[in-house]
Amino acid sequence: ALSVPDKQVDSVCPYCGVGCQLTYNVKDNRILYVEGRNGPANLGRLCVKGRYGFDYAHHPHRLTKPLIRREGVPKTGDFTMDPDRVLDVFREASWEEALALAGGKLAGIRDLHGGVALAGFGSAKGSNEEAYLFQKLVRTGFGTNNVDHCTRLCHASSVSALLEGIGSGAVSNPVMDVTRAEVIVVIGANPTVNHPVAATWIKNAVRSGAKLVVLDPRRSELARHAHRYLQFKPDTDVALLNAMMHVIVTEKLVDDGFIASRTIGYDELERNVAEYSPEAMAPICGIDAETIRYVARLYATSRGSMILWGMGVSQHVHGTDNARCLIALSLMTGQIGRPGTGLHPLRGQNNVQGASDAGLIPMMLPDYQRVDNPAARARFEAAWGATLDPKPGLTVVEIMDAIDAGQIRGMYIMGENPAMSDPDANHARAALAALEHLVVQDIFLTETAYLADVILPASAFPEKTGTFTNTDRLVQLGRQAIDPPGEARQDLWIIQQMANRLGLPWSYGHVSEVFDEMRRTMASIGGITWERLERNGAVVYPCMNEGDIGQPVVFTETFPREGGKARFVPADIIPADERPDGDYPMVLITGRQLEHWHTGSMTRRATVLDAIEPDPVALVHPLDLERMGITPGQAITIASRRGEVVLYARADDSSPVGAIFVPFCYYEAAINRLTNAALDPFGKIPEFKYCAIRVTPG
Ligand code: SF4
Repeated sequence: ALSVPDKQVDSVCPYCGVGCQLTYNVKDNRILYVEGRNGPANLGRLCVKGRYGFDYAHHPHRLTKPLIRREGVPKTGDFTMDPDRVLDVFREASWEEALALAGGKLAGIRDLHGGVALAGFGSAKGSNEEAYLFQKLVRTGFGTNNVDHCTRLCHASSVSALLEGIGSGAVSNPVMDVTRAEVIVVIGANPTVNHPVAATWIKNAVRSGAKLVVLDPRRSELARHAHRYLQFKPDTDVALLNAMMHVIVTEKLVDDGFIASRTIGYDELERNVAEYSPEAMAPICGIDAETIRYVARLYATSRGSMILWGMGVSQHVHGTDNARCLIALSLMTGQIGRPGTGLHPLRGQNNVQGASDAGLIPMMLPDYQRVDNPAARARFEAAWGATLDPKPGLTVVEIMDAIDAGQIRGMYIMGENPAMSDPDANHARAALAALEHLVVQDIFLTETAYLADVILPASAFPEKTGTFTNTDRLVQLGRQAIDPPGEARQDLWIIQQMANRLGLPWSYGHVSEVFDEMRRTMASIGGITWERLERNGAVVYPCMNEGDIGQPVVFTETFPREGGKARFVPADIIPADERPDGDYPMVLITGRQLEHWHTGSMTRRATVLDAIEPDPVALVHPLDLERMGITPGQAITIASRRGEVVLYARADDSSPVGAIFVPFCYYEAAINRLTNAALDPFGKIPEFKYCAIRVTPG
């Protein structure tokens, strides 16, 4: 019978950074159902995406043959999900023809204009090995550091602040440490929707006596479980956090011993927060002074306080400043370096941590070795037998601007969908369309692939083996359960074929050969052998040698900075780049919803998930609906200075009055057409969480 699997394969969920382990139940090369496994991050639990979001892999829209754009078909950006129209735009080709064209064109641009005329986007949906090989190809085959991925759009500002302040961009403590904390602070994150299994650990901790403090302009479901919920005004994070630090300083709740022995720069921070009394900040952030005082005392004086944050913190022009404040809070109170304390930026995609570790970022080689550090560069030049560009490359949004300026002429995009995920997406689409040559490697005809010259059909998550690193720094093994359909090939093979066409004589066999090379060049995972992963399924890094069990909690003795000391960096209030005005009087906040994943290319093709949330929606406060004369379910038009979309209004009192929340997964109402591409100056992350809009019925 169809319902009886003929094999079971243990792997990892393809969606969020929690990294839940699961088992695929397979019959005749089809996944029948998925069950949770007893992995370190999930202990058997799965959310709706992990449990029901698997049949995208079998969807009839899967790309099964290489495609080449037909002569003379314009790159209009007029995307369609209708597979019958695909062959109006593209013709099928052999792998040999497609690779020769893709590689040949990019090599031609490199030879004529130099490597700086090329760029690559890798993917946090791919494995560590794919990320590593992709950035190595761009650096040694293209000859440029213009390589980036979606980390730029989610936690680049957090990482920038963490590297600057404590010397490491990864989390200090795993999510599960909330069960050992006395106080849990969740700010700018909606774990129930975006990290659902992590949210269950938080709720369990609350049930066992931990005090949860939720700070967020949107009242998430988690706020129902909070000891205190502070609905501060959008864009006022620094005002609120500096006011909390003011209380801690003036009431002498600081940890003097920790500050003296383990940090530098405290005096400057103390001087800075003197200006931010709770009374002065209350009207700015919308939280009364006494509540600010109460929460500050609670955080500072508990036996263990842990902070978790998400993109509500990071996706602002002051995202790095927001994270600097969170780091300073933990340092001044000594709430870091012990179990049940610390800093945890919740990672979005299942491998955004690993892809960043593997060097899929323009200013860093693998293991966060700076490209402009001669010693680091020399090590990788020796390991790779190539000369590396000492100049940091361009970031995601900068690459789109460089296309506009005629500097970048060719791109290779693996598994990312900037036509949907970039801010000011109309601009991004026009830039992609203007490229001389665009190669896209993906499993579906995404909105980005629609603008390509050559499309290379790739493998879905259950169709390959590789390692993935979750938000806790756990390196986990994803195992192949089914074969790719038709002529679709595994991404690792495709990257190597492209490398060969660009003159690199690569011939890696099994994926473990790539992982072994990573171990040799990345000290943090030096002790994680492939055999160990096959045996245990997961090992946490830092893991320096084969006898090391790995370190779930770090910074216990020292920080990985010069002198071993963390650094306070003060922050002042910087307003959003685009404030509401008479023409655009409301605020747009974008993000994800429970059932759909990022740009929707996978989950909107998963039967159960699509059935639950089939249509584009905007979450609007009932008072705003009433004021505008709009009934729930009615179509509305949302417009910003950059574009407009039509979608359905849903009454939702978790959004603050005057602010509207829209998920970015719906191609027919691609909300990033409206968002603002203004960047945080340090992390170069765009301001997805704030721009000015106008809403009208119809
Ligand atoms: Fe997958 Fe994240 Fe859900 Fe776990 S919590 S099942 S990793 S989407």
